[in-house]
Amino acid sequence: METEVDFYELLEVERTADDKTIKSAYRKLAMKYHPDRNPGDADSEARFKAISVAYDCLKDPQKRATYDRYGHAAYAQAQQGGGGGGGGFSDIGDIFETIFGSAFGGGAGGRPRRGADLRYDMEISLEEAFHGKETEIEIEVSQTCEPCSGSGAEPGTDRTRCPTCQGHGKVRAQQGFFMVERPCPTCHGRGEIIEKPCAACRGEGRVDQPQRLEVTIPPGVETGTRIRLSGKGEAGPMGAPPGDLYIFIHVRRHDVYEREGTTLLTRVPITFTKAALGGTVGLPGLDGEWVTINIPAGIQSGEQLRKRGDGMPVLQGRGRGDLVIEVKVETPRKLSTKQKELLREFQQSETDAQCPESQGFFERIKAGFSKL
Ligand SMILES: [Zn+2]
Ligand SMILES: [Zn+2]
Repeated sequence: METEVDFYELLEVERTADDKTIKSAYRKLAMKYHPDRNPGDADSEARFKAISVAYDCLKDPQKRATYDRYGHAAYAQAQQGGGGGGGGFSDIGDIFETIFGSAFGGGAGGRPRRGADLRYDMEISLEEAFHGKETEIEIEVSQTCEPCSGSGAEPGTDRTRCPTCQGHGKVRAQQGFFMVERPCPTCHGRGEIIEKPCAACRGEGRVDQPQRLEVTIPPGVETGTRIRLSGKGEAGPMGAPPGDLYIFIHVRRHDVYEREGTTLLTRVPITFTKAALGGTVGLPGLDGEWVTINIPAGIQSGEQLRKRGDGMPVLQGRGRGDLVIEVKVETPRKLSTKQKELLREFQQSETDAQCPESQGFFERIKAGFSKL
């Protein structure tokens, strides 16, 4: 099983986006995740590399068309296939073409292609994304027909070699100056002819069957993560290997936490007295533990506190991201007479140095203007 993110989702663009949109989306994200801007942040670096690979593919019309047609899995496969060869992002394109040339499009020998890949959308909560989960899904998928083992021929009956193509599955034809190969029109590339079609599958070699599948959601998945169940897609024609099943993850919005990669963000309102004097606030953590946050005295509204290692788990990695708490200072909306008295007394004792931004704000602006 492996986990992947779609190139379009990575660049946060629609599948129909034009080149200009893709370019500007890439630039925006590349700026954001550039290693120079995020020194020492492995998460950003990984993201930066991933968007570079995505852009390298989508900016090239030919590569993009191939990607759209065969999907991410094939691209990733091509990438892996080239891993030992040369390395470097620029090589991917060539490897991509080479591998597609042989693995797809019914290249060699007119052999039937593997079954189609399938998509299954799964919605999970942020807690489930945090812990990961074991679950079962039920889907209707075509399976290789058992009685005929996918051949499409009624058991006990004969299959004969196709007379048109002599079993090659392809015929050659002259086209202008060139000799081209086409799938055989008699046997549709199978190379053989069925005497009597199998009753169970009507000669298809495949039948739709409900399937219960166990799915392991690893901790740290996010919206856009794809989990591949290898060989759990549609059965291939004529007993050819099946395709893959992709579980597309969608993480529901959470009441308390927002998430960006492995970072969890939450906004916590605190009273103005707590902001001035300092104190603690408590939050329910996604791991079920209570998170206590120390509020330093003199914190400002909008200021962020970071708790390292209290964020989301790193997908297929170790450790956790950070928890970021953005503080919102709340001013009392009503005061008793006694409180007003106390605050007025406090006001008398306030000095410029205590609240340098607001004290003398307009004087400073005016001073600034007169210098112009
Ligand atoms: Zn034939
Ligand atoms: Zn059958």
